[in-house]
Amino acid sequence: MSDRDGFIWYDGKLVPWRDATTHVLTHSLHYGLSVFEGVRAYNTDIGTAIFRLREHTDRLFNSAHIYQMSIPYDKQTIMDAHIEVVRANKLESCYFRPIAFYGSEKMGVSPRGAQVHVAIAAWPWGAYLGEEALAQGIRVKISSFARHHVNVTMPRAKLASTYTNSILANTEAIEAGYDEAILLDTDGFVAEGAGENVFIVKDGVVYEPEIASALSGITRASVHAIAADHGYTVQTRRLTRDDLYIADEVFFTGTAAEVTPIREIDNRVIGEGKRGPVTEILQKAFFDVVNGRNPKYLHWLTKV
Ligand code: PMP
Repeated sequence: MSDRDGFIWYDGKLVPWRDATTHVLTHSLHYGLSVFEGVRAYNTDIGTAIFRLREHTDRLFNSAHIYQMSIPYDKQTIMDAHIEVVRANKLESCYFRPIAFYGSEKMGVSPRGAQVHVAIAAWPWGAYLGEEALAQGIRVKISSFARHHVNVTMPRAKLASTYTNSILANTEAIEAGYDEAILLDTDGFVAEGAGENVFIVKDGVVYEPEIASALSGITRASVHAIAADHGYTVQTRRLTRDDLYIADEVFFTGTAAEVTPIREIDNRVIGEGKRGPVTEILQKAFFDVVNGRNPKYLHWLTKV
């Protein structure tokens, strides 16, 4: 990733991609406290546009607030920087990775005295789980690792250290021959994927698990609204692992994963074992929204 042409916004200015480096004594590298986002821009009908930039920026600042990290820029500067990055790299569509982290000014658990640095990179990134996954669905394993308890790393924050838990779950699933993992919470109820929120469809009703220990996904909120527009009842409640097994359809949502059908969980076929009809409708509607084809949601797009 580091050896390529292009520019990264780093502490207020665009720097050549290869020069956007940090010291090995970077505090966040040692203690895991950095907050970040995953954002996408699509090559839409109205030109390149960033999907829900305001909401992603709000979540970035909320993550920092939860961890008492003071981002030394205002939200508008961060949003404008996303636009600068797309233009500087001449991207039509891309994935962004904004990140705020503590620098190498000091060592020791307390970050007090370390400077907060901010970087925003962007590069083309297609379907996270593959194009085929979007059409055919994926195979998922319920992880043997629980999602963090709500009072461990705090799930409203999207922070690096949470992802060690995701890495354990995803690695276990991949090594067992699956495509991705779903984690249960410490009470045994469905939380989320290693990098996605999860929904089920049962008897025409769309359900999502309470987001207690899951990330409050922006794609999840978008799909929730889109499903309601299509006349589906969307309910939020505790879901068990076997609610997933007997669902008619299950799908993931996420900025990277977009709307990815799940066709099998723990070797149990879900529904017809392929992308279900409701998933297909919501997936298509989601792509219409992010590509600027639904006038109701043009306000979710920030034109570059
Ligand atoms: N859960 C986790 C653990 C994630 O990493 C992500 C991706 N950011 C999501 C859910 C989905 O969130 P969003 O739709 O905001 O990308």
